[in-house]
Amino acid sequence: MRSRLLQRNLRADPPLALSGEGIFIRDSNGKTVIDGSGGAAVACLGHGHPRVLAAMRAQEEKLCYAHTALYSCESAEQLADLVLEGEPGGLSHLYLCSSGSEATEAALKLARQFHVEHGQPQRSRFIARRQSYHGNTLGALAASGNAMRRALYMPILADAFSHVSPCYAYRDRSDEETDDEYVARLAAELEAEFQRLGPQNVAAFIAEPVVGATLGCVTALPGYFKAMRAICDRHGALLILDEVMCGMGRTGTMHAWEQEGVAPDIQVVAKGLGGGYQPIGGILIAGHVVAAIRDGSGAFMHGHTYQAHPVAAAAALAVQRVIREEKLLDNVTAMGALLEKRLTERLGNHRHVGDIRGRGLFWAVEFVTDRATKAPFDPSLQLHERVKMQAYERGLACYPMGGTLDGRRGNHVILAPPYIVTAEQVETIVHRFGDAVEAALGGLPPA
Ligand code: PLP
Repeated sequence: MRSRLLQRNLRADPPLALSGEGIFIRDSNGKTVIDGSGGAAVACLGHGHPRVLAAMRAQEEKLCYAHTALYSCESAEQLADLVLEGEPGGLSHLYLCSSGSEATEAALKLARQFHVEHGQPQRSRFIARRQSYHGNTLGALAASGNAMRRALYMPILADAFSHVSPCYAYRDRSDEETDDEYVARLAAELEAEFQRLGPQNVAAFIAEPVVGATLGCVTALPGYFKAMRAICDRHGALLILDEVMCGMGRTGTMHAWEQEGVAPDIQVVAKGLGGGYQPIGGILIAGHVVAAIRDGSGAFMHGHTYQAHPVAAAAALAVQRVIREEKLLDNVTAMGALLEKRLTERLGNHRHVGDIRGRGLFWAVEFVTDRATKAPFDPSLQLHERVKMQAYERGLACYPMGGTLDGRRGNHVILAPPYIVTAEQVETIVHRFGDAVEAALGGLPPA
């Protein structure tokens, strides 16, 4: 091992990513790979987009940093104006930070402060969902239901958080249940959790509209989010929607909640906001939440040295302008439909493919040993990692995850190509992915 960087795997040095152009990354193995998942659903414009690079350069030449205690900056102001144009869903203000985890922390703290300033200081409980992910900092991890990522840190996670079931129809809806009955059961479970905690004590319910890495692109059933919103409203709790992975156009609408018929009080965003050109995340905040604090103490009791960073904001502003001006959401919808069709044609009847699911350019394949029982593979086989390596060998980067069911059992792999992907490239992605899946399964030791 040569690297002095603490890599994710301390027993192997990864290749160096040397350069990127469009949907391709060139690396120190001499390979040029299709970035079929934009990293972790980040690189929404692909790599090296000239307009984004020019905007960053222009901002760098003007000013790289000024502290927000004294100054605001043009790029962050313009980004807020653009993202909040027309106040979508009543969201009126933007708070900018440097990652998805930081943004979740800001959302949790803002929800807490809102209630205190609203004369309800007893509201200190948060309800989240199992098998969810909201970030790796301690507050965000306490909110997260990702059992695998939580396990080691359980003793130091705050106990202000509890978890209810996700809406995961593929595994959790019983054969005897209709979709509506399943949604009603989940609503009853959330209601029961409010009652257990005392509804007057709950600050917020937090959920991913499309569950990202942990479950693998799981959309909710129709009516689910409306039912969750109604419960929050009935009890005076806020609804926080975490769109770090599924937001900013990834599912074909700018915000994933637009397809659910509800709007959040606080929305968490990150990956697609800046497309990986700079580390940036943020929260979009409803007018009534901002008003409570403006009319109360007048200040959000939170802050970071690099919040609303001028260069990060300039990069995100350029990314957001390109998405709008080039009407890329139309391409997300069209290429997403093609990706679904081709994945289904290639793998839909495969005996080890249990489910192909997603929305827009955000798709996952979940693997099973047996389609009827939906039994997962032995976790020690690390099937998702095998698919990743086989895909890489074939010139495709994808995003694998284990522990789909409970943090230990289950495997899925995500494809989330950049919004600029072409039909021909979608064909290549599915071709390479299908071959990789077959090679990975073919290479498993005999059962
Ligand atoms: N929330 C969701 C839904 C995510 O998918 C992630 C990251 O994958 C995060 C929060 C945390 O974001 P970050 O890794 O930028 O801290």
